[in-house]
Amino acid sequence: MALTLNAGTRLLVVAPHPDDESIATGELIQQVRLAGGEVQILLLTNGDNNPWPQRWMERRIRIGVDERRRWGERRRAEVAEALGKLGVDAASLRPQGWPDMGVTTRLREAMDDSVAVILDRLDDFQPTVLALPALGDHHPDHGAAHVLTRLAVARWQHEPPRMLSYLVHGHDTGATGRVKLDSSVGLHANKMAALACHRSQMALSGKRMRRLADRAERYQWTRGVPPVTDSAVLPWQPSPLLQGWLHLTLADGQGVRQWSWREAPLAQDGQGRHVLHGLDATIEGPRFVKLHMNLPSPWIFDRWGWCELQCG
Ligand SMILES: [Zn+2]
Repeated sequence: MALTLNAGTRLLVVAPHPDDESIATGELIQQVRLAGGEVQILLLTNGDNNPWPQRWMERRIRIGVDERRRWGERRRAEVAEALGKLGVDAASLRPQGWPDMGVTTRLREAMDDSVAVILDRLDDFQPTVLALPALGDHHPDHGAAHVLTRLAVARWQHEPPRMLSYLVHGHDTGATGRVKLDSSVGLHANKMAALACHRSQMALSGKRMRRLADRAERYQWTRGVPPVTDSAVLPWQPSPLLQGWLHLTLADGQGVRQWSWREAPLAQDGQGRHVLHGLDATIEGPRFVKLHMNLPSPWIFDRWGWCELQCG
């Protein structure tokens, strides 16, 4: 499928953090503007939970609530400046101020309110194209943002927008449904100029960020899959040694449910795969499961993360 952009295109970018809009969609945004279309950015967090760059830039060790809030405001201002380089007015930025590294907690504890925020944006802006984080992104805020966005689209009573998933952290594994955006020297230069506006991040991580932004922009077409029946195969085979620490979170149109691995309604099939049973087959729309370990860890990235449940 080709991506056609014209004056009727309305692109909504769901960005969990300041800088995702430039790294992942900096050229797509410009192409939509050049075609005469409109762009809005739904910025979920201000990226305020970012202590190491802040310590470095501000020469301070202790970071309290006020410092953290101020850092978030600084990063939000950087996005507004970056959007200017991409041809988008600062008024198109819609920041939500959710806690950075807290999108999964919001999903678990306030799913309906969080979906309603995205639904409001869909109602207000009426996007025809939606760029959203990939479900398989290893950053937990990105995977959770995908789930919330998909649930909002499923609930929206309009023609669903074309959905393009973008991956920032992790490896691209999907072989089908890829869209690679045509680039040009000018578009790429503007994108790198937008990236450079994120001075708070470039100071410590400039090399990594430039490497991420230097790749050709790629997206995965994302479509709803047929709803599951009353059971679904999970893609994971966690070691029995870990199973005492593991948890499953199910998110769908009905809400959120959580189990420890041992209490979850799981059974193994003839091939040794773990099958989740007892699903309500009358629920429409996509359904997602996350496998995670609830141990405190300095490693922020997801080891297993989310999957979308499929039939069969
Ligand atoms: Zn991000």
